[in-house]
Amino acid sequence: MARNNATCSRCGAIYPVIDMVGTVSAKRGGRSEYMCNRCATQNEHYHATNSKVLGTDKVNAVFCGIEFETSFSDEYARNAMFEYGFIPTHDSSLHSDGNDSRYGWSDGNTCEYVSGLMKGLNRASKFALTCDKLISDGHLKVNYSCGTHFHVSIDSMKNANGEKVYMDYIRRFYHSLFIPLNEAMASDTEAMEAVFGRDFGHYCEAIFNSSEPKWNRYLWVNVTNDSNIEFRLNVFKNGKQYQNLMKMEVEMVKCIVSNFCEHFNDTDIDSRRYANMREYRKHKADVTAQKLVKIYKKYANI
Ligand SMILES: [Zn+2]
Repeated sequence: MARNNATCSRCGAIYPVIDMVGTVSAKRGGRSEYMCNRCATQNEHYHATNSKVLGTDKVNAVFCGIEFETSFSDEYARNAMFEYGFIPTHDSSLHSDGNDSRYGWSDGNTCEYVSGLMKGLNRASKFALTCDKLISDGHLKVNYSCGTHFHVSIDSMKNANGEKVYMDYIRRFYHSLFIPLNEAMASDTEAMEAVFGRDFGHYCEAIFNSSEPKWNRYLWVNVTNDSNIEFRLNVFKNGKQYQNLMKMEVEMVKCIVSNFCEHFNDTDIDSRRYANMREYRKHKADVTAQKLVKIYKKYANI
């Protein structure tokens, strides 16, 4: 029997099938999925946020989120990304590489996908492999204009009392924490490009001792948000490289929380070694910074 109506996989609206865009569902194993015209062709505005919480991981306090820029994505890719809880948003900085719009819109072809909040790394890890497949099948393209941003938090960067104070601690010792890592990366750009997919640049700037103000949202480690650290240098080269990168950055955030943030207000300070609290915190930041360098070298195989 012919199917007259279908439910849009993205917005849930019901329309006659004849007015919809049909695609093959990744999740439903080849059975057709339908999207309304609006969902298949248009992007959300630039500042759209995605408040979905995804994943069933009960143990992990790790939350992550991805902003993923694409230079082309067809309705098959959009449908697959919806299934992962990503919404397409408009980003005027993206270049379509001359791919004409499939829908007669200038928008919708290039887009920045914004994920919901993903619990643990499992879902993000599977997503990376799905992207690999979408790219190799020609449904999705990323070019020189595309980057990705990866947000990571451990329990929303709250202390044991539930107060969101950890990001403030990190800002106060930003240079101590990140300059050694930045230097280790800059000393071998080939290794850095293998891990991150690119060199420092616009909107993912290197961290220098002299930079003023001390931290800002365009440095490659962005600490301006109160509940997560944002890594801005990441580029998707392939699934394996991107999985390695996400794993490394989650390990780094865990390292900062357990070696620095959790000791910020220690009370049993050895007064013979540290003249004051600031000196103690600086020491903790320096030790953490060296651990970050070690983590980087492990993932970069150097
Ligand atoms: Zn729809």
